[in-house]
Order: sequence, then C-alpha cells, then structure tokens
Amino acid sequence: MSQPTEPTATGGDTAIAVTPPPAHAALPEALLGQHAEMAAWRRDLHANPELCFEETRTAQLVAQRLESFGYEIHRGIGKTGVVGVLRNGTSTRSIGLRADMDALPIAEANLFGHRSIREGRMHACGHDGHTAMLLGAAKYLARTRRFDGIVNLIFQPAEEGLGGAVAMIEDGLFERFPCDTVFAMHNRPKLAVGRFAVRTGPAMAGGAFFDIHITGVGAHGARPETGVDALMVGAHIATALQMIVSRNVPPVETAVLSITQFHAGDAYNVIPQTAVLRGTVRAFRTDLMQRIETLMRRTIENVAQGLGAAASLDFRINFAPVVNDGEQADFAAAICTELVGADNVQRNPPLIMGSEDFSFMLNEVPGCYLNIGNGDVEGACEVHNPMYDFNDQALPLGAAFFVRTVEKKLAPVA
Ligand SMILES: [Zn+2]
Ligand SMILES: [Zn+2]
Repeated sequence: MSQPTEPTATGGDTAIAVTPPPAHAALPEALLGQHAEMAAWRRDLHANPELCFEETRTAQLVAQRLESFGYEIHRGIGKTGVVGVLRNGTSTRSIGLRADMDALPIAEANLFGHRSIREGRMHACGHDGHTAMLLGAAKYLARTRRFDGIVNLIFQPAEEGLGGAVAMIEDGLFERFPCDTVFAMHNRPKLAVGRFAVRTGPAMAGGAFFDIHITGVGAHGARPETGVDALMVGAHIATALQMIVSRNVPPVETAVLSITQFHAGDAYNVIPQTAVLRGTVRAFRTDLMQRIETLMRRTIENVAQGLGAAASLDFRINFAPVVNDGEQADFAAAICTELVGADNVQRNPPLIMGSEDFSFMLNEVPGCYLNIGNGDVEGACEVHNPMYDFNDQALPLGAAFFVRTVEKKLAPVA
C-alpha cells in the first residue's frame, strides 16, 4: 500500500536558505525555527499552482499536514476548501483564521528553481505564501497549545473572482464552525517586510459587473423612421448613467461606474435592432452598491422607454466591500504593534480600489483583513504580474500574527 507521499519542495528540499525577518521584529523563537520549513512548503505550492476550485493537490497537502499536526479535518467545504479544527481546554470561545489557496491563469516569467511547472498557471498573488503562513501557525499552535478554546483554520479556494468564500459560507462554514471573530491577511508589494497595514472600517472596494440589453426595431439605414435605433438608445443610456456617480453619490464618498463594452450593429446600411453595454461598478459600502444598482435600473428602463425601446439590467455583486470591524481592527493593530513596533504598523492607509472576497466572511462574522509587507526594494513587483513572487522573509511574521491572535483572543482565563 502506498502511503500518501509528502510532496517535496521543488526549490531544493534540503535546507532552504532563508533571509531572517528584520531585526526590529520580535517573534516567537520556535516560529523562527520553522522558517525554512515554511519556505519549503511555500516554494512547493508556488511550483504547483492550481486555479479556482481546482486546488485538489493543494487541499490534499493542507489536509495531510493539518492532520499530522493533530487537527480535526473537514474537506470539501466550498468544493475544494478545507477546515482544520484544534480544540484546547474547556472554553467554547472560537476564532477563524483564513488563507486563500488558488493561483491565476498567468504564464510565469520567473526563472528561479521554484517557478511554476504548470504552463499558463502561476501563484502571482502570493496565495502560496498565505497558505504556508497559516500552516506554519497551525503547527506551532498544535505544539504549544497556549490557548483555551476552538481554533478554526479556513483554507479557502477560488478567491480570484469565482466566489470561493461564498461557496464555503453556503456550505455552512459558520454554522458548522462557529467563529466569534475572523482574521485574514494579504501580502502587499511596496510595503517593507516587517511592516503591517491595518484599516478600520471600509478597506477595499466592492465590485459588481453588469450587462445591459437593449431591444429596438431594426431598420434600413436610409429609413430610420421605420425603426427604433438600439445603438442611439445605448448611447443615451451610456451618457445618462454617468450622472449617477456625479449627481447621486455624495461627493465625499467614492464610487466608480465604468461602461467598458458597447456592442451594436454589423453593417453600414442596417440600423441595429439590439445593443449590449457592459461594465463594472466599485464602491466601499454595500448599501451604496445597491443604491447604484437601483438608480441604474431606473435610468436604463426609463431612457429606453422614452425613446421607444426596451432595456434590461443584469447586475451582479461579485465582491462585497471589505469592511473591518472597529474593535477587531484595533485588536489586529495591537498584535502587529507587539510584533514589529508601532512605527512599523501603518494605521488607516489609503482605501484600496481592488476587491477581495474575504469581505463575505466579514459580513457574517466581525473581524479584520490586514496587509503584510512583501518588500519595498527597487522594482518590487506588483501582484498579478508574471514576475511576481511571494517574499519568504515575511513568512514568520504572518505566522506570528496568526499565533499571537489566537493566544490573545483565547487566552486562558485564570
Ligand atoms: Zn489576486
Ligand atoms: Zn490575492
């Protein structure tokens, strides 16, 4: 019988040379002892990227490791998601810590030893690092057990736009594994290693995609009076929609409504019967996203009707805005301060227009989503770039955040 083999790191499975975290970081000694191991795990994940909901190898590897540390394992939550549960003591207090596991359909341009061996797929967002940091914390917590309560480690699939967080929630994530609070982090290029950034309240934008279908009456290009020109109706709708952000959204708030596609017509001498507009909306409050949808629908239907056509709107919120609970953001910032000092914790950095589906978990359970520095050296590569790589130097810092969060939140009560 063949035993499930422990995947070996492509980056060289003998002692990986790692750069220790910066000297100002005060991290548990035993976690620093796990640094090379975390880097080996991370590089192995990097070499074997898997796309949204296809993270079978990654999930298997995560589950095997958690099991070997002594966690109770639950697989198949949100298709390829994994939850590991560790109980200690008698308290029913609980915490959720989440890492994302998926990669992107990008052809890697790096040439280092742990580059992707899967053509056209790449860990270009650092989810390999997020997974390795949470596994490192998992191992440490299982060994040290300096907490009283329940730790739920949430390894999520499909963060990159295909709804992994929602899939886990719909599979009963928080009913089956109740969490008092929930935390996650994302690496941030251009923020130095050894620094964290934490925002209170809105942090990242919510995002929606929309389709507008317009139906008029097709006609000969020389006889417009016999038709209803769907293209011109579309042009009026496109113009009218620009009034929503400029006239209906309070100027002190932020929103974007971009029409990014306009399809109509095939011939020089035919007035098109139909037109399709598509685009995206971004905002930092769910109720504002919903208000924009309502205003869009009213504008689209009535402009079309006024011009003798019909039009419909399909509006899909793919990402809710990331909104951090005030108390939990203060808590997270305090943990970061303990690890790297107040000077290295950026409080309330600028809002990020990008999106993140941990927002749906934050809508269910109060918590905080923060950023961990991935390095600010000259030419530091942005995420989703074919030259990107997660910075292994940051691994113990992220793991330490998760560890200290558990030890503080679930501190034994005397
Ligand atoms: Zn990404
Ligand atoms: Zn990401």
